[in-house]
Amino acid sequence: SASPVIPTETLPLKAARGLGPTLAARAHKWDQSREYCHENIPDLVAAKLMGMSIPREYGGQGASFLQVVDVVEEVARHCTLTARIIVEANMGGISAVMAYGTEKQKAFCAKYVLAGDKPAICITEPDAGSAATEMTSTAQKVKGGYRLNGVKHWITGGGMSKLHLVFARVLDDAGVDQGIGGFLLLHDPDNGDDCEGFTVARRERTMGLCGMPEAELHFEDAFIADDMVVLPPSGFKRGFADLMTAYNSQRVGAGTIAMGIAAGALDHATRYLKEREQFGRPIGEFQGLQWMLAEMDAKVHASRLMLREAAQTLCGKGFPDMHLAARAKMFASENAISVVNDALQMFGARGYGSQEPLERMYRDVRMFTIGGGTAQILKTQVAGGLLGIKVPQTRDGYVKIAEGSVK
Ligand code: FAD
Repeated sequence: SASPVIPTETLPLKAARGLGPTLAARAHKWDQSREYCHENIPDLVAAKLMGMSIPREYGGQGASFLQVVDVVEEVARHCTLTARIIVEANMGGISAVMAYGTEKQKAFCAKYVLAGDKPAICITEPDAGSAATEMTSTAQKVKGGYRLNGVKHWITGGGMSKLHLVFARVLDDAGVDQGIGGFLLLHDPDNGDDCEGFTVARRERTMGLCGMPEAELHFEDAFIADDMVVLPPSGFKRGFADLMTAYNSQRVGAGTIAMGIAAGALDHATRYLKEREQFGRPIGEFQGLQWMLAEMDAKVHASRLMLREAAQTLCGKGFPDMHLAARAKMFASENAISVVNDALQMFGARGYGSQEPLERMYRDVRMFTIGGGTAQILKTQVAGGLLGIKVPQTRDGYVKIAEGSVK
């Protein structure tokens, strides 16, 4: 069985290692220009890193989440932006389609991802962030499909992605709420596939990951045909919960990006401690820095173990266990911020400037305790697993449990 510690040198990992120096050399450019890394996409496609988790019958390589995680760590050491693309091209939305989609949907989505598209997953709304199930976007049943209405924000890749998996509250013909469903929307205006009623309203100006658009999307009667509804066998009532199990893979992916940035920062710090001299000796001879370095190494390594464990502990439809995914992401994201911060400190003023990649890495790593489930929400989830309850967050939550109206 796979080692929990040492990544096996798989073909995708070898390809990722080969691309490392090229990605590292370009990373500064995307950060400064706030441009999407279009130039990297043909390299990722050629290296078969886009859609490598897609089953072979749809053109992918059927790679495991563990193989994806090893690739993501390697790439994140050099370029966070590219690592995020690899996560979204192999985990989350695309893996939900591969698990729950129809044959037609799987073939349709595989074609785009294998050609270089990074699908967007659209859940968050201005008034429904952590409380995602309070979303108010609707999908009204009409003849032949659904009409989507609402606003999503902080959508990664908005305006760049062609495929979108949009979550909305489903209303039947009579306007009765059926639960939350997932809808596949294609936005490919260059090839004449525009979706009327769908607009990219604006782009956020972000602190880090500057080449990745984070956008606000508007849906005004956007039509989605019946055959583009991703419907788990449990139907709309439990469909959101099922589709969100796929999101556990995205969480492991996001945690791995954070850990990979930290691993990269640790490499830089180790190099600099040997190079930089003060008081007539390498700064690596100072015990104050040695102890920091040892703690950084332990944090990165513990994160890696938890993430690789979560990537290999699959349940249900083959997605990482929810508890292990939440625990690994929460631990890895918080520790990665601390490791990158310490690495920057070891560089002194040089770390604060743009000669070294540390200041970019520091800005990039900050998002991972926020996006894809905040550290606080994940801790609540982990505690719920330990206590054996779905820890209520609404004011009347415990009352409902006591009454037996929620489980
Ligand atoms: P809020 O929910 O308003 O939370 C504010 C603060 O309160 C946080 O610290 C939070 O932890 C805390 N809090 C809230 N509820 C509780 C509670 N019950 N207990 C304890 N603390 C609580 N969304 C998408 O759908 N698709 C994407 O592609 C996507 N990409 C993103 C990329 C980035 C860079 C970022 C920053 C966000 C992205 N998001 C995306 C949105 C992200 O999922 C949300 O930001 C996140 O779920 C938190 O929601 P919020 O920002 O509205 O914060």
